[in-house]
Amino acid sequence: MINVPKGTKDVLPSDSYKWQFVEKTAREVARTFGANEIRTPTFEHTEVFLRGVGETTDIVNKEMYTFLDKGGRSITLKPEGTAGVARAFVENGMHSAVLPAKLFYITQCFRYERPQAGRLREFHQFGVEFLGSTDANIDAETILLAKTFLDKEGIKNVTLYLNSIGCKECRKKYEQALKDYLNQNIDDMCELCKDRLNKNPLRILDCKNDKCKEITKSAPKILDYICEDCSNHFEKVKNYLTIAGVAFKVNPNIVRGLDYYNRTVFEFVSDNIGAQGTVCGGGRYDGLIAQLGGADVAGIGFAVGIERILMLLENLGVEIPNPNKVVYYIAPMGEKETEKAFELVSKLREKGISADFDHMNRSIKAQFKYADKIGAEKVVVIGSDELNNGVVKVKEMKTGIEQLMTFDELTK
Ligand code: ATP
Ligand code: MG
Repeated sequence: MINVPKGTKDVLPSDSYKWQFVEKTAREVARTFGANEIRTPTFEHTEVFLRGVGETTDIVNKEMYTFLDKGGRSITLKPEGTAGVARAFVENGMHSAVLPAKLFYITQCFRYERPQAGRLREFHQFGVEFLGSTDANIDAETILLAKTFLDKEGIKNVTLYLNSIGCKECRKKYEQALKDYLNQNIDDMCELCKDRLNKNPLRILDCKNDKCKEITKSAPKILDYICEDCSNHFEKVKNYLTIAGVAFKVNPNIVRGLDYYNRTVFEFVSDNIGAQGTVCGGGRYDGLIAQLGGADVAGIGFAVGIERILMLLENLGVEIPNPNKVVYYIAPMGEKETEKAFELVSKLREKGISADFDHMNRSIKAQFKYADKIGAEKVVVIGSDELNNGVVKVKEMKTGIEQLMTFDELTK
């Protein structure tokens, strides 16, 4: 037997309807916010992610699926959605079309990680990118979209953590203060953070190591360092969120892993799915489009992990109705009856009603069992009497109630 590669999963029919539900909700919510779908390739030139995610990030440093194709080009399977969207935005001259561009995607992502609950090597994201506005109201709008999505899924108990990491200028001052502080505690930090200290000190605030967490508790706080413009922007974001009735907690340790973020950053975190509790992360990235060779276009976005959403729904006991069940199962008792069954299911399907019949030459008893297994709502038996009279009994499986109908009435 050949197994799936480590860190990947099959989605079987017994589960796929849950994915459809999550994706449908995502599309619906995006639509109500005026966002349109964008689909970018599964792989890009590696450079897109080197420039668009950043060379000091975990993703670029250790998680990318990078290979040379047969033409000797360096190709990478997308580890996240934003960089590819930004590349497409630049390449297709979208900055000269309508702004803001309100975009969303649902895509698989690939990261070479140590697989565990909520952490896979192939996973899926629903993401949103709003490009072209620096206004604080679009920050709030982006966050509200994420919140609305979670609400519509039936997910209630998640906490929204909000922070501002300022602009390049204020961050420079802050990074120096942070480095000075961390340098005094370097011996107690994990190896990874020792390495991060010079490359990407902000990332240390995000470290999951207990000792590093303890150290960063008393570290200088970014919000004490941001400039007046950034501070005003942050106040406005908070104000808009309050107007929208979105509860949040300011958390100066939320920094996000990616190099290109500035000002607003946020995460939605749940306590219900263990260590991998972050279901959604996002932020503002005003330098990204220029970084990929485009115009100076601002942007903000988020990505939600669909597997983590499904875990959360499961753990919260949220019932997802399966809309894919067969409505009519037609049970024929012989050759001629099977021909009639075939005709009837075809007519029902034409009307958009799901219908099925026997393909296994089963006895009536076995057909009822099968109908029950596939969750058929109604069963219609066709024997020689039914065939001759043109009248059938339609049995409602849940209640056992039977109703007489002609063939015509059944398929009307
Ligand atoms: P984490 O801190 O858990 O590694 P991250 O900061 O790397 O998350 P992002 O790059 O912000 O995650 O991705 C957005 C969302 O995608 C995450 O909040 C999470 O829900 C999901 N996600 C990220 N990596 C994985 C993975 N390997 N498997 C499943 N879901 C993931
Ligand atoms: Mg990660």
